[in-house]
Amino acid sequence: MADNPLRQLPAVNDLLQSPVLAAAHEHFAHDAIVAAIRSELAVMRVQVGQHHAVDGQMEPAAIAERVAKRLECEAQAKLRPVINATGIILHTNLGRAPMAEEAAQAAFEAARGYLNLELDLETGKRSSRQNAIRDWVCRLTGSESATAVNNNAAATVIALRALCSGKEVIVSRGQLIEIGGSFRIPEIMAVSGAVLREVGTTNITRLTDYERAIGPNTGALMLIHCSNFRISGHTQAVSIAELAGLGKKTGLPVVDDIGSGALIDFQPFGFSGEPIARASIAAGADLVLFSGDKLLGGPQAGIIAGGKEWIQRIENDPLMRAFRLDKMTLAALEATLRLYGHPERACREVPVLRLLAAPLEELKARAESLAGRLRGWPDLSSVAVACDVAYAGGGSLPDQPVQTYVVEIVTRGQRTAEFAHRLRTGTPSVVGRVRDDKLVLDLRTIFPRQETDLVAALEAAAERTCSGEATVDAAQ
Ligand SMILES: *Cc1c(COP(=O)(O)O)cnc(C)c1O
Repeated sequence: MADNPLRQLPAVNDLLQSPVLAAAHEHFAHDAIVAAIRSELAVMRVQVGQHHAVDGQMEPAAIAERVAKRLECEAQAKLRPVINATGIILHTNLGRAPMAEEAAQAAFEAARGYLNLELDLETGKRSSRQNAIRDWVCRLTGSESATAVNNNAAATVIALRALCSGKEVIVSRGQLIEIGGSFRIPEIMAVSGAVLREVGTTNITRLTDYERAIGPNTGALMLIHCSNFRISGHTQAVSIAELAGLGKKTGLPVVDDIGSGALIDFQPFGFSGEPIARASIAAGADLVLFSGDKLLGGPQAGIIAGGKEWIQRIENDPLMRAFRLDKMTLAALEATLRLYGHPERACREVPVLRLLAAPLEELKARAESLAGRLRGWPDLSSVAVACDVAYAGGGSLPDQPVQTYVVEIVTRGQRTAEFAHRLRTGTPSVVGRVRDDKLVLDLRTIFPRQETDLVAALEAAAERTCSGEATVDAAQ
């Protein structure tokens, strides 16, 4: 059987000694190299069996090269930076809010060293990690106290446990929302141990509906911001001021889940109806809950602002241990809140605010400049600049599109979906929109500093078809 082609395959040990794989030991564990060799040889055996093996492909040096490439592919980080060209500013799948440089720096410093997470440097005694953000949240919302947990879902659970475990929480039927990713208000409430008491109808809920539902087993009254949808037409909802008034009269605590965590007024950005944390506290809410990584523009967190006793009760809950923020997030959250101490500075430095506020003229100029760099590429059959709409996303400002400018690309020789796939899987990854068989890149969410990398990524994705490299990848 001397002419059995499988016999031509080199042995694992021979491949291990090839210069390329001997050198690979510097970066990869021996076992990983052996496993990659075995995988590659298995592929070869199938190809030989199907008579697909091409001349030269069986050479030990060629196999070793492919093993090395395989090792590098496998070693790539699963989480990688993405250039967000979707136009959706708070894109849940892309990590929601990009953080301010200062916040990212604070997280970095916290990560790589020690810090006074729970140590009072003045007295040398143990302190609370919440001190880092408590005063800032109080200052920015006007609340008496505050604490923070991993996200707003956790904030809802722990707040309801503190207020009304085993008791009823009265909520309007119009606010029993699903945020996405399996966050459904009724289910979250069930987890907290509070009993949901629905009142009103989908479109109309009046103060008298809450009033009539109050009984001996009522624990709290709650408002929930309809973050990702709107009920329009014949509608009526109770304001936080009205509900807080009812709470005062009946001695019941009032919780306001405002969702996005706007610390400033978004009207100057052209958006209306986004509840502001400070306004909710001023209106008399006992606890206000909001996310750290939506319109606030910080790290993933759930912030709870409100009365000292309620906050104390929340912090004493054993679940706090499971829900508390880690040092990196706390450092980033503190840094973000500090920026809001000077609202104009926040507008300049918090990326979410900067992206939302970027003037249309500037986006148009950047779109034209980007298009100019792409025109005339042989792999692209057309490159056009167009006016379009972007969205805040992440459940914020759902019905309020933001004007934007996009670059629309039509490829030659490869399908748009294929081109989009190459861009997504390239380095850096670029995620755009595919519409009418065009790849649409929205300048609203592309940072100016990413433009050079974006052009390089587009070049690589466009060119790979011509070089034929893509077919080799597909075979692997
Ligand atoms: C987004 C949102 C939540 C969930 O917040 P996470 O921080 O994503 O857990 C809860 N309530 C409302 C009203 C929201 O908009």
